[in-house]
Amino acid sequence: MLTYVELIELRDKLINNEIGIELAKERCWKDFKEGQRSWHTKDWKERRLKFIKEKCQICSSTETLTLQHLSHPKKYNEYLREITRTYTNHYINSNSEIDKSPYRNHILDNYEYVPIPLCPNCMNKNPGERVRKIPKYRCADCKHEFEEAIYRSAIELISIFFKDEDAYEVRDKCFVSNDKWKNKHNLSNIKYWFQRNIAKNKDAESIEKKAFILYLNDNIKYLSFEDTITACKKCASNYDLYKMELCPKCKEHYKGIQYPTCIQCLPEEKRKAVEEKIEFGKQWREMEKRLGID
Ligand SMILES: [Zn+2]
Ligand SMILES: [Zn+2]
Ligand SMILES: [Zn+2]
Repeated sequence: MLTYVELIELRDKLINNEIGIELAKERCWKDFKEGQRSWHTKDWKERRLKFIKEKCQICSSTETLTLQHLSHPKKYNEYLREITRTYTNHYINSNSEIDKSPYRNHILDNYEYVPIPLCPNCMNKNPGERVRKIPKYRCADCKHEFEEAIYRSAIELISIFFKDEDAYEVRDKCFVSNDKWKNKHNLSNIKYWFQRNIAKNKDAESIEKKAFILYLNDNIKYLSFEDTITACKKCASNYDLYKMELCPKCKEHYKGIQYPTCIQCLPEEKRKAVEEKIEFGKQWREMEKRLGID
């Protein structure tokens, strides 16, 4: 696990092209075990001591203080997906036409086509299938009864799609991916993933680099303790700390984002009432509601 300072160094080297993305990842993740967190390192413990305050920033208690993060770093893969999506949208916006023959081959190679039955008389979809009666099908639209439905071939569907991507005929998710996911796609879905793949391969390195820099920034911010508050054990377990912010009045204590100020900054009467009856958890929230502190 890299220390705070080492992470900053690594990020800056990556930004200045002094190190490649692969090596950067290797350095960052070597000795990185699943479940091992920054709070196990000596560096973290030492730096933490400098940031933890003398009392709880919510209720002023001094009992069992902990430093609580108000935000957590995202996973690298989340950033990778986000950046890939941005690149894909950009690519699609400037390349709305697709190369027909690679797209067609991509479908035939990577998907199993499960055609939907059509009425041979009016070509409507999904004629009613009857278990006991003969003939097997009855079309709900034209009332035609028949034994054998007809099917469009994949090639036929694809050429309809090339003429009109929103055509009624091509909306069904009748293509099943050959991979382990067995995703059901229609031709528009396939087009999206096909273009996404082109966009991704075209700029693989910059996508990874951008995502990794965001990931490093997140971890640096986490280790910087910028976004932390000191909370006592009770407050830490009774509050949803992600919904806390610094009280605008005293700029010292924290308050729930739905309240105008912290407890300490309430008008005398209300504060006393709150402090006398203070009980965390459910009762506490109810009382605040009753007192109309909102
Ligand atoms: Zn507290
Ligand atoms: Zn029909
Ligand atoms: Zn306050």
